Amino acid sequence: MTTQLTGQKMFLAGKWVNGDRIIEVRDPQDNSIIDTVPAASAKDMVNCIEEAKDGAEIAASMPVHERMKVINVAADYIEQNLEKYARTIATESSKTIREASKEVQRCVQTLRISAEEARRIHGETIPFDQMPGSENRVGYYYRFPIGIIGAITPFNDPLNLVAHKVGPAIASGNAIIVKPATVTPLSALLLAEAFAYAGLPPKVLSVITGYGNEIGDVLVTHPAVRMISFTGGVEVGEKITRKAGLKKISMELGSNSPVIVLEDSDIDDAVESTVSGAFYAAGQNCLSVQRIYIQESILYSFQTKFVERTNQYCVGDKQLEITDMGPLITEKEAIRVENLVNEAIEKGALLLTGGKRNGAFYLPTVLTNVPKNCTIATDEIFGPVVLLYSVPDLDEAIRLSNEVNYGLQAGIFTKSIDKAHRAIAKMDVGGIMINDSSDYRIDSMPFGGVKKSGLGREGIKFSVQEMTEPKVVCFKLS
Ligand code: NAD
Repeated sequence: MTTQLTGQKMFLAGKWVNGDRIIEVRDPQDNSIIDTVPAASAKDMVNCIEEAKDGAEIAASMPVHERMKVINVAADYIEQNLEKYARTIATESSKTIREASKEVQRCVQTLRISAEEARRIHGETIPFDQMPGSENRVGYYYRFPIGIIGAITPFNDPLNLVAHKVGPAIASGNAIIVKPATVTPLSALLLAEAFAYAGLPPKVLSVITGYGNEIGDVLVTHPAVRMISFTGGVEVGEKITRKAGLKKISMELGSNSPVIVLEDSDIDDAVESTVSGAFYAAGQNCLSVQRIYIQESILYSFQTKFVERTNQYCVGDKQLEITDMGPLITEKEAIRVENLVNEAIEKGALLLTGGKRNGAFYLPTVLTNVPKNCTIATDEIFGPVVLLYSVPDLDEAIRLSNEVNYGLQAGIFTKSIDKAHRAIAKMDVGGIMINDSSDYRIDSMPFGGVKKSGLGREGIKFSVQEMTEPKVVCFKLS
């Protein structure tokens, strides 16, 4: 909701500035207003892009050792202020304090890996003399920054997913403008604070708060912005892809990740990993375990233990260390999830546990016998709901896993190397975890999906590749 100006700031080209309007930032737990940020206008965004033109030149001329130093000092600052960062995440987003602390630690890692990657932006010599007539040519290619990057980020990891774009952009000598999720702008602004403290030259980084459909469009369509790095839902991702025109795009989108549990697996381990993977951040996670395909011989045992473990989950105040799961990001989101579950139950699904909502809270929910014609069976739920399916064998599990439009990550539990290899070869995903759930990631690995889960790869080294272009240099000798 936009109300009158109170003086909170956004970070425009190194300056903390106001806008003409504000956005109220609310704690999803009780809907209380915790802060306000400017609702930037299209004109603010255009001004920011103009400033970033200088920023791109400044960033490109920063020696690698300076880029590394600035990024590492920003990482140190965040590490020294971990409590403040974690509390901000746990207040503006739906994460618990434990989940928020983990995210801050991951963010520090993301930045440190980015700093390291700066020294590895290599080129190669090119053997031009492979072509008859080119014997007198020598040369090489090196990688140069592409200029201004527009970063648009989601609410569910409000700090680390921003760092995943800012760290590699600065490491590779680019200017970057971040449009954080409208509901969780404070963590992104704190990231800007760390870079301001670290002495990043003004104009290299901006964090512009506002509404996606007002300022996002300007960022996406402006010709000076050479790349859009987007993380968010498929609907917005596709809209941006259509509008962006001839610029680089990186799309990290949603999924409804499958996990296969075979009869030769360690069932207790599989239960522990999949329960955690399903309900981490109340299921608001692109890697969230949504569909579990269990070999029929162990269905009863797995299902019983899974429900038992789910029922032990402590749902409640996200600021408490004992809490396992907090609310969804808004009550509206919780109602959306509730409706999806009710639709499935009406169509014949069996509710094993959960299925209850209180405001923005929705209990961890387990369903079985979910018919194919339910939205929940094919779309991303993005909530604490998991579907259990019985399958006769691995081949059927793989076939059903692939029968959706998404393909981010998957998991398989088995002791058989042959079966694991069959799954690796046949599953349409960007990553597959053996003896773990789909919800596993380290920040340096290539990360991204196939089908509607996205385009391109993140993971620091891979983001740096996307954020740079090769330039060929060829000397014609006499
Ligand atoms: P969203 O798509 O609603 O919003 C993402 C961002 O886009 C926000 O900053 C929003 O303000 C902005 N936006 C909205 N309309 C826009 C427009 N017209 N032009 C430009 N920007 C616009 O996503 P969300 O609800 O914040 O996040 C949840 C989604 O993100 C889920 O689908 C989840 O799977 C996905 N996600 C993917 C990854 C990944 O790495 N693959 C990671 C986290 C989240």
